[in-house]
Amino acid sequence: MKIFEELESEVRSYARAFPRVFDRATGEFLYDSDGHQYLDFLAGAGSLNYGHNNPVFKQALAEYIEADGITHGLDMHTLAKQYFLETFQKKILQPRGLDYHIQFTGPTGTNAVEAALKLARNITGRQNVIAFTNGFHGVTIGALAATGNSHHRGAAGICLTGVTRMPYDGYLGEGFNTTAYLDKVLHDSSSGVDKPAAVIFETVQGEGGVNAASFEWMLALEAVCRKNDVLLIVDDIQAGCGRTGHFFSFEPTGIKPDIVTLSKSLSGYGLPMAVVLMKPELDLWKPGEHNGTFRGNNLAFVTAKAAIDHYWSDDSFALDIGKKAELVTKRLTAMAKQYGNGNFVVRGRGMFQGLNCISGELAGDITRRAFKKRLIIETSGAEDQVIKIFCPLTISEESLNKGLDILEESIAEISRNAEPVPKELDFFPG
Ligand SMILES: *Cc1c(COP(=O)(O)O)cnc(C)c1O
Repeated sequence: MKIFEELESEVRSYARAFPRVFDRATGEFLYDSDGHQYLDFLAGAGSLNYGHNNPVFKQALAEYIEADGITHGLDMHTLAKQYFLETFQKKILQPRGLDYHIQFTGPTGTNAVEAALKLARNITGRQNVIAFTNGFHGVTIGALAATGNSHHRGAAGICLTGVTRMPYDGYLGEGFNTTAYLDKVLHDSSSGVDKPAAVIFETVQGEGGVNAASFEWMLALEAVCRKNDVLLIVDDIQAGCGRTGHFFSFEPTGIKPDIVTLSKSLSGYGLPMAVVLMKPELDLWKPGEHNGTFRGNNLAFVTAKAAIDHYWSDDSFALDIGKKAELVTKRLTAMAKQYGNGNFVVRGRGMFQGLNCISGELAGDITRRAFKKRLIIETSGAEDQVIKIFCPLTISEESLNKGLDILEESIAEISRNAEPVPKELDFFPG
């Protein structure tokens, strides 16, 4: 561990919550350098929806590398890209009645958001963008301006401009329709809110604390955008690729966003890859206007195609996610009830669920106990008060129950007034 403290920047974060050296991983399991097995309920923050080293994609990738397939291709045409595009069109877009052009951006989510915001601003000629409370869209300057979290915003060192914040669904309590407020300020020439190029939002806010917008709210938001001639951007980087039970998180709502960003689990294998989808008539980019050296990660194209072929050729995977999600809801609801006293609220949608604890201290105590029992699980939210249940979607029912058992035991220990686990994890998981 010494080299990490000696050489690696203080900026490291997940490593602090899980201070072990990891070595191997398969499916929903991680193994440390001493060979101990851990259950992974973090799943690369949603980049490993199909698990670690999924054997189906591993084989496709190994064969491609063995045959000297192109690894780096800038944005040149390659067979790997062609096959990915054909599969994406045939198995993702067409069956859903979606018509989009695809832009390959630099391989991070935040770069896809940058591209989406640039495009919206350039084609409308407007600077302002509406983003929501507790939203997270990445940490490069343009995307960071749309991100709510003050810890991240504070690191910018420069004014974050061009974004107006609006209350997300439920922010002002039940019964307050925040889209009506948005509609009002967009109509009122003295509201002080400049007419925006676009509205950007997550259907379920990931880093912001697993806040799931209602379908009615999303439909109302789309209607406000249409009425006021404002583009609708869904940032599906975390909620997409099956996490909520559908390839796109907005599918069951019926909304048709103008622009969509995807990244995290798109490659399926944890390889970096990000795209922007835009309605064809909005594709007013000039060649090379938004570029990036690593827009052609062909290894990611190979595994992304394999992921779509294997999991999205029919609806069996979606149905399986739905069943697992029901199990998670049932068990979390039972935990909230048994150990409740109003300290816990279940939230989220599909396999994107969380346990909102009354404080960040409580949530942290629970996740530290869970790690001691070799469950890797994180918190999110403004006060880190939401325990995020984020296992691979391919997890076995047995492992899913085992992880939830560990979570429950950790909560039960606290309700028996056990000594809090120290913040500085000086223990070795048992
Ligand atoms: C993770 C995330 C991003 C940023 O992706 P990076 O690859 O970390 O840059 C943007 N939007 C959402 C919704 C995310 O969850």
